Amino acid sequence: MAIVRGHRRHDRVPLLRPKSASHRPDDQRRWRFRHALVMCRIASPLPPTNRFLIRSMNPVRSITLAILVSLPLFGSAQDATTLHPVPLEQVSINDAFWSPKRTIWQNVTINDCFDKFERDGAFENFDRLIAGQTGGHRGAPWFDGLVLEMIRGANDFLRSNPDAALQARIDGYVTQICKAAKQDPNCFLSSYTQLEVPDQRWGRNGGKLRFQHDVYNAGCLFEAAAHYYWATGNTNLLEVALRLANHMAETFGLPPKVNVIPAHALPEEALVKLSQVLTQHPELSKTLSIDVDANKILDLAKLFVELRGKHDGRESFGQYAQDDVPIRDQKTIEGHAVRATLLYGGLAAIAKEDPQSGYFAVADRMWRNMTGQRMYVTGGVGAIADDEKFGADYELPNDGYLETCGAVGAGFYHLNLHQVSPDAKYIDQFERVLYNAVLSGVSQSGDRYLYESPLTAPASKQRWDWHACPCCPPMFLKLTGALPGYVYCQSDDAAYVNLFIGSEATVRVGEHQLQLRQQTTYPFGGQVRLQVSPVGEVSDPLKLNVRIPEWCQGFKIAINGNAIDQPTLERGYASLLRTWKPGDEVTLDFEMPVQTVSANPQVKADLGRVSFQKGPLVYCFEEIDNTDRLRFSYLSETATAVPSEPPSGIVGIESIRVKAKQRLPVKDDESLYGQDVIGDITEDIELVGIPFFAHSNRGPTGRQTWMPTTILLTEEAKAETIASQGTWTASHCWTGDTIAAVNDQVMAEASDDDSIPRFTWWDHRGTSEWLQVELAKPSELRSVEVYWWDERRVNRHCRVPATWRVLHQVDGTWKPIAGQSEGPVELDQFNKISFPPTTVQKLRLEVQLQPNWSAGILEIQLH
Ligand SMILES: [Zn+2]
Repeated sequence: MAIVRGHRRHDRVPLLRPKSASHRPDDQRRWRFRHALVMCRIASPLPPTNRFLIRSMNPVRSITLAILVSLPLFGSAQDATTLHPVPLEQVSINDAFWSPKRTIWQNVTINDCFDKFERDGAFENFDRLIAGQTGGHRGAPWFDGLVLEMIRGANDFLRSNPDAALQARIDGYVTQICKAAKQDPNCFLSSYTQLEVPDQRWGRNGGKLRFQHDVYNAGCLFEAAAHYYWATGNTNLLEVALRLANHMAETFGLPPKVNVIPAHALPEEALVKLSQVLTQHPELSKTLSIDVDANKILDLAKLFVELRGKHDGRESFGQYAQDDVPIRDQKTIEGHAVRATLLYGGLAAIAKEDPQSGYFAVADRMWRNMTGQRMYVTGGVGAIADDEKFGADYELPNDGYLETCGAVGAGFYHLNLHQVSPDAKYIDQFERVLYNAVLSGVSQSGDRYLYESPLTAPASKQRWDWHACPCCPPMFLKLTGALPGYVYCQSDDAAYVNLFIGSEATVRVGEHQLQLRQQTTYPFGGQVRLQVSPVGEVSDPLKLNVRIPEWCQGFKIAINGNAIDQPTLERGYASLLRTWKPGDEVTLDFEMPVQTVSANPQVKADLGRVSFQKGPLVYCFEEIDNTDRLRFSYLSETATAVPSEPPSGIVGIESIRVKAKQRLPVKDDESLYGQDVIGDITEDIELVGIPFFAHSNRGPTGRQTWMPTTILLTEEAKAETIASQGTWTASHCWTGDTIAAVNDQVMAEASDDDSIPRFTWWDHRGTSEWLQVELAKPSELRSVEVYWWDERRVNRHCRVPATWRVLHQVDGTWKPIAGQSEGPVELDQFNKISFPPTTVQKLRLEVQLQPNWSAGILEIQLH
């Protein structure tokens, strides 16, 4: 994996080095030395006298990678200092970048998701339980969990920004869910199991727990209950959750108890939250009607960890679900990426409550494997589509799977480790995944979503309105709803500034409090202004730790205009110990040029390629800004990118521009050898890049993130054809597909080849449709060849049409071309209609779809 290397501190993970190299850090850096950086200085709000660039700390401006040499035999020791989150009510975000997004997510996304869950029957399942019915479950078995996750996320948004209508909607759902749960004496709630396989609860009696998701659904109930209580003080859901948790704690264990673990991790951290509610609010033992014991709840979380890899009395869920061996024997991060990140994040959460558990060492060992060898430059994880899992070390294909849920899971994992070990390296990775892989998960409009967010994708891989497994939007809302709580954190020793987001907060330091007011140009600029005031009379010096981002190669820091020559650096933070006076102001100025990033040579997919990053933002290149010839482009070895105005159709971003070369089509009459061949077959162009998070917001378009630096890695450019130069239109095209697919010269390997762009008339079925082209100039044609898109082998919605024929426009009227042959509809090949030579400029395919079926086209050729 690739990381922009800064020189912020000495306690980084070690770099991979060649066997013969010396171990001096400078040599390692030279070994990975990359392009010089282009400086991009934006007018600083700081007066010039305040500027002091800490060159001594950042002597080399090179970009390279952080890779672990190997995992240590023993895990890291857990810190004595633990951090605590700042409650959401004590932080308010007011930020040019984040506030408009959070408004859209709260007003559009949350309601859009609830509407679609209602439409798909997720809440109807609870009504069926309340009515005592059986059968008729709608949606996936984990639908209960997903709507409970929605409730958690929505409640966090409401803690920051109350909204009576949304609160009423959630209160209604909570009332319904509590009623459904109370149909069972133990408040067991997993509607699929209850409606469809009631005798297979927890996967017993031949049930399939991995499919049923009973424990996962329970975990989602626990975390929703905690967050709902924190938001409203209402104990309805809490009481239900505790009743179920108590039942599970009494029932589960090694035989003769019932051996059950979550086949999908999540309940581990959820139980920690449930126990925290009880610890924070001892008065609940008097007001709730049930047994309240925080230790019992936490012990259940630990039991779920300890039972991993111990299969007495149950089936193994294998490496897929981190269940092949006991937890302490797990050496590398394997299996389903969402499960893995939630499990090890859960371990960190338990370790914070119980330092003696030893779980921090396991969680940190897996984290170093993940961030050192198995994570993308966007912070995304889960390279392999099959089983949605981690690949081997350095197996990071650019079309890798990268589910949004995996990115969110990684985000929680980074945060939980940081709470136990206050090292900025965890927040560096949180920032990476937040600004790139997570943020790409929802469209700018707030109502279109991504399941997968690979670095390279064809135009056919686009956002969807909804999904049969809509797991990603709830996970996205859980993390973004809690975002205000991640900007700062607090401890007995110091207040921490982790993220650069315009905000106001009250943060505890020991027994005192600091009022913080942050203004910033982040993420497009590196200026930060922090007003720091103590709450009340404070004569003691208090420590304020401000993160220096890992990507940062140089920065200035000042207090009240006085530059700090050599700030104390502690584990990635500039540590400011001071007796703060009202109105004190800390200013930071991070250099933020566009940086050229290279990957470790062991990442074969990125050999000979570079990507670009500015501050925390990774950039990608979309065809819509660079024509569909992007895949024929490459950069010169010395290419540097500069910031630029955003392209049209996209708001609130800054783009980059970089000079490049584009491979020209080889003409048929090209001689075999010649002078200056490279010069003849390339042209100079300029590529426009946008932040990765903003991809796929302007209709179907392909993208690349790692650009080739050699012509050898580009695709072979094809010569323009009559079809490729024409302008194509259609009676209809599905929003996720593109008409541009029919003449993009990307050839299919089969009629159900879903790896390339396609055009379809979906969701029209059985209708009469057309697809037409206006040629660049009148041309004499003899045939039209069509490669049909057909999904019969994958049992989906498109088939070859019933019939098709070719028309041309004569004097403004469409007429069938005379003497044409019948239109064939064979699979896996071009289907040709021939006719006598005819000069045409406007040509139309008239297509009659089969009854109840739609149709589509992968490519068309005109001769
Ligand atoms: Zn998902």
